[in-house]
Amino acid sequence: MFDHPSFDAHEGVHAFHDAESGLKCIIAVHSTALGPAAGGCRMWNYASGDAMLTDALRLSQGMSFKNAMADLPLGGGKSVIWGDPRQDKSEALFRAFGRAVESLNGSYYTAEDVGIDTSDMALVRKETRYVAGLDEGAAASGDPSPVTAMGVYLGIKEVAKRLYGSDDLSDRIIAVQGVGSVGGHVCEHLARDGAKLVISDIDEEALKAVSAVTGATIVPPDDIYDVDADIFSPCALGAVINEKTLGRLRVKGVAGAANNQLIVPEMGEFLRRQGILYAPDYVINGGGIINVAAEISGNYSREWVDGKLNRLIETLGQVLDEALSTDQPANAVADRIARTRIAEAKTGAPK
Ligand code: NAD
Repeated sequence: MFDHPSFDAHEGVHAFHDAESGLKCIIAVHSTALGPAAGGCRMWNYASGDAMLTDALRLSQGMSFKNAMADLPLGGGKSVIWGDPRQDKSEALFRAFGRAVESLNGSYYTAEDVGIDTSDMALVRKETRYVAGLDEGAAASGDPSPVTAMGVYLGIKEVAKRLYGSDDLSDRIIAVQGVGSVGGHVCEHLARDGAKLVISDIDEEALKAVSAVTGATIVPPDDIYDVDADIFSPCALGAVINEKTLGRLRVKGVAGAANNQLIVPEMGEFLRRQGILYAPDYVINGGGIINVAAEISGNYSREWVDGKLNRLIETLGQVLDEALSTDQPANAVADRIARTRIAEAKTGAPK
């Protein structure tokens, strides 16, 4: 464990096995310096225990950074369940997972991630209070996508401001990859501002619906990387900025919702060298976790969410300005700010 390449001074890495339900899960708590660790639960049919551990270690560290940049009183954690979400789900499995979460006494809060939905979390809730992303209940926050989308839209405006001296998006061409829960809302905001949209998805129905509302031009999935546009907004998959796509991009900025857009962090430097301004994914897409944090507080308030979202976009602006003025990749600037915020919380230094 301590020699694992993805180990980053994690506070705790907990493995759980429940013979009766077949649960195999890891809960990784990266840091509780800023507050209880929070991050979703992923269910995935991993190729090996090591692949599962790698995911838990990386994703929990990512949540520490995301929560720190969103200025939330939360640390970073993540849980992974080994199994096929289409076949292996059961009430017993999620209740066993709930007991695992409960055994950590509130040092980790869970919510939905890939492979998990609100009905699964309702089962987890039967065993533990330390769960968010619920549809029902006094503080339930429901679907975080509209808040994430608002953050991405405001983030695109911040990028435009730095590229063109104005955040007016009318007649700007924006290529949006993925028009699902987040991408669809992002397109609506952009269209309202008069932006010209080019969209791709593998879901024909989603494409038709978004195009009908926004007038977007549809391109085949792989052609989105070649679009001559102002900004590329990845809102579907991770690792889309890679050695194959980098040379194809004909945009001035990359700003979208997808998690882990850079296949490796070094891609941030390659984007910079190509003169492309990158809005670090875990900063621009922090709206969803802000919404979840409001639920964890036990007193959901839309006003609080909006305040935090505005503060997040200010932070994104600072990251972009520092990256431009010091010729550094924006993802490296964001990582440094996040690490500093966490380290200062540990030593009790003022923010
Ligand atoms: P979603 O599943 O609703 O939408 C994703 C869309 O991408 C779908 O319409 C899907 O058909 C499409 N897609 C899949 N493969 C594609 C491809 N090769 N080319 C083009 N489109 C493709 O998911 P979502 O909730 O909108 O999330 C989108 C991304 O944003 C994900 O990476 C997610 O991790 C990230 N994210 C979401 C939130 C949130 O609040 N939902 C918060 C933070 C980050």
